[in-house]
Amino acid sequence: MPERSKTVHDVIVVGARCAGATVAMLLARRGYRVICVDQALFPKDAVSTHMLRQSGLARLRDWGLLDRLKATGCTPIHSITMSYADAHFSGFSDPIDGIAETYAPRRFVLDALLQDAAREAGVDLREGVTVTDLVRDGEFVTGIVGRDRDGEPVTEHARLVIGADGYASTVAQLTGAQKYDVIPGETFTAYSYWSGLTMQSQLRIGDKQAVGGWPTHDGKTLIWCVQYVDRFAPFRADVEGNFALAFKETAPDLAELLDTGEREERFYIARYPENFYRESHGPGWALVGDAGYHKDPFTGLGISDAFTYADLLAERVHEGLSAARPLDEALAEYQAQRDRSSKPMYRFTCDSSRLVLPDKHVEVMRALPGSATHTQQWFRMMAGGLSGREFFAEDNLASLLNPQGGR
Ligand SMILES: Cc1cc2nc3c(=O)[nH]c(=O)nc-3n(C[C@H](O)[C@H](O)[C@H](O)COP(=O)(O)OP(=O)(O)OC[C@H]3O[C@@H](n4cnc5c(N)ncnc54)[C@H](O)[C@@H]3O)c2cc1C
Repeated sequence: MPERSKTVHDVIVVGARCAGATVAMLLARRGYRVICVDQALFPKDAVSTHMLRQSGLARLRDWGLLDRLKATGCTPIHSITMSYADAHFSGFSDPIDGIAETYAPRRFVLDALLQDAAREAGVDLREGVTVTDLVRDGEFVTGIVGRDRDGEPVTEHARLVIGADGYASTVAQLTGAQKYDVIPGETFTAYSYWSGLTMQSQLRIGDKQAVGGWPTHDGKTLIWCVQYVDRFAPFRADVEGNFALAFKETAPDLAELLDTGEREERFYIARYPENFYRESHGPGWALVGDAGYHKDPFTGLGISDAFTYADLLAERVHEGLSAARPLDEALAEYQAQRDRSSKPMYRFTCDSSRLVLPDKHVEVMRALPGSATHTQQWFRMMAGGLSGREFFAEDNLASLLNPQGGR
């Protein structure tokens, strides 16, 4: 079968959602010839509760895309109500990176916005192309092999292939990229969309389960519950009944609120895969997004981290392809920087997603309604703008836990 092309592109990106479309856009804006392929035909939804963090919104702003996102009519979020055991409080972080609110845009809106921006930057973005193999020259990856939406073979060549193809990454499997720091996933989620609710963000943690929700597009509110995997099979036997029960047990006030609205879509159910890092570079290839670093969605960092590390990867790739330094050295630094800066939130995410908080956390949460400053700090920590070490420092908590202590 004749090959479709012998052109050598600068970069091929596999996967065209938050990590892939983004890194493709950033490299094309630097003048590189980039093709980006995805097996999906867009616009297409993705299984995700799609909360963006301030870090992700700041990246969109830097790329000139935040105003476009706001123009889609997504409801801004500026308050979070949280509860655990008898602790109950509301608040929000002070601005992080200049961003004072968050958004939870539907994925068929957000991903399309990123894909449009990539095409505008000059990316040849091809939908319906499934990658099944890699072209190699010795140990070097030099391209992709796959098929298009009509089943016709596709072969493309590039100086670098980037896998942005999600946690089950084909590129990772084909390169043999090893996982490390693996922590098993212990929970599953069920969620849907309600109309007729007026609600900001809610996060309520109960006995080995959590419920919550937040506003998104078109007047709809995303409503979710999370439980341990040992309850997965019984839950599926009666999704609607068990979903309602989770709210009654964990947050009766929200259960009553749901009764005032209408569920508009089917339930989406997903078991969370394990948490892991993957080796994210090798001769002629790199990984970004969930393909290289995946964690439980409990802290809502997957999309924002995809932006942050797509930005970092584009920077390092530019250094390598422009011969400012050897590409392999630049890619090794990308992985090291990513791991270093993400590790504290990785640990925090894996710990908090177990839904059993340490006694110290509970003591602090009970006290938070008495301190607006600490409440703001708590939400700043949850958003990744303050480290757990800084927040839980004895000095910082003294005035919260011991207000009569003479400080
Ligand atoms: C239930 C759930 C809730 C979540 N909630 C949140 C949240 O609230 N906030 C948040 O930030 N994150 C959340 N996440 C995580 C977030 O969705 C991911 O971190 C994010 O989608 C990762 O983006 P990505 O671009 O790396 O991969 P993906 O979004 O998985 O995109 C990968 C793309 O690669 C394509 N692809 C795969 N294989 C091939 C192939 N062989 N050939 C061609 N194309 C291929 C796929 O079609 C897909 O379009 C949630 C995840 C789940 C499962």
